[in-house]
Amino acid sequence: MPLVEVRNLHKRFGALEVLRGVDLTVESGEVVVFVGPSGCGKSTLLRCLCGLEVPSGGEVVVGGVPVRDEPRALQALHRRVGMVFQRFHLFPHLSALQNVTLAPRKVLGMADAEAEALGRRTLALVHMEARADAFPAQLSGGQQQRVAIARALAMKPEVMLFDEPTSALDPELVGEVLEVMRELAREGMTMCVVTHEMGFAADVAHRVLFMDAGKVVEEGSPQEVLREPKHPRTREFLSRLL
Ligand code: ADP
Ligand code: MG
Repeated sequence: MPLVEVRNLHKRFGALEVLRGVDLTVESGEVVVFVGPSGCGKSTLLRCLCGLEVPSGGEVVVGGVPVRDEPRALQALHRRVGMVFQRFHLFPHLSALQNVTLAPRKVLGMADAEAEALGRRTLALVHMEARADAFPAQLSGGQQQRVAIARALAMKPEVMLFDEPTSALDPELVGEVLEVMRELAREGMTMCVVTHEMGFAADVAHRVLFMDAGKVVEEGSPQEVLREPKHPRTREFLSRLL
């Protein structure tokens, strides 16, 4: 059974039809990279996968459980799907460790000592254990994004969604975040990643999906989609990236 299954997903905002029938399956342990022009619906798709947007039609199933627009179901979904955004959205008044332990304490009701141990272990996964007590403003963008990844990992999600996680970073800070993501992929984490980092996609993705105008236009191995794209829109998009 696939970990994530999307069937005929539609999403409209008023008159604007943003997702126009997306079908997608993600197997456990798979890394899927989404590419496509700005505005084609990549963020909206990820937001539907983690329950931040309610689909206008179609179905999203995560771990065999259909996503329903109902508070308890969404709360359960949020535990199982970790999301990392372009902007890190850390709480500025909380330390790195406190940012990471907040959800385990508040959502899972974990005791302080247990949450702290988990938080330190999780910060170590993103190589931030030495900065556990630093506040976001004292950290670089790359460090903040690694803390944001740890915050999502602390809930032990079944799947991690990354929406352009390095797009807001200075170029010299991109590598450290991609390296953490590579390590997660190597550990077998199931990941859906929207990114323009084609080197990362070529090395790490099991599958690349090219989206255009609310649909998946082409999908295949990185080699197939990035090196030998079949669809003219994919070719045009990739040629503009070079
Ligand atoms: P991408 O991530 O591929 O750049 P998005 O999913 O962010 O694309 O957006 C797709 C389209 O949906 C864009 O035209 C965007 O302006 C529109 N859109 C996204 N979110 C909303 C919203 N909450 N309300 C209205 N329009 C939205
Ligand atoms: Mg986007």
